[in-house]
Amino acid sequence: METDPSLLARLSARIRDVPDFPAPGVLFKDITPLLADAKSFAQCVNALGAPWRDTAIDIVCGIEARGFIFGAALARTLGAGFVPLRKAGKLPAPTRGVDFGLEYGEARLEIHVDALASGTRALIVDDVLATGGTLAAAAGLVQSLGAEVAGAAVVIELEFLRGRERWGADAPLHTLLRY
Ligand code: AMP
Repeated sequence: METDPSLLARLSARIRDVPDFPAPGVLFKDITPLLADAKSFAQCVNALGAPWRDTAIDIVCGIEARGFIFGAALARTLGAGFVPLRKAGKLPAPTRGVDFGLEYGEARLEIHVDALASGTRALIVDDVLATGGTLAAAAGLVQSLGAEVAGAAVVIELEFLRGRERWGADAPLHTLLRY
């Protein structure tokens, strides 16, 4: 589904490039100016949700931390529930976790073991797709609980890092802004 190019240009203008953050050589895509503008935030969430409107989604799984922001908003627009995929040690009840590498280091994602009933259709949401390690780990975690990955929705895709090639789930991966 094609999004209006002028809308994409306006959203893109609200993403700030921060060189060498959080590590030398990383060009960080800072979404905070987009979030702070009411119209841009609303249009971004609407456009992110557009490909999924006619798809059955029970739960949006947002990836900590910035995936929470878009994921929770998207859950509301799609009429779905929200489940957080959190960093190590943050969830209070029994968890299942996975260790993985991302563009600027190593990380671990955890989910409550009872968060997704078997057969639940889950949409995974994050802000940036870089090397693809995070999204692949999230999909594996969701599947390990017996849920079905309906797809993934990501605001920004850094195409030159070819993270899409690591998206192993047999489901659509839609991104809004590609660099
Ligand atoms: P990756 O696993 O390499 O695809 O990294 C994606 C995750 O790391 C997402 O949760 C992003 O929030 C974050 N991330 C990686 N690279 C960047 C970047 N250049 N700008 C902003 N966030 C990034």
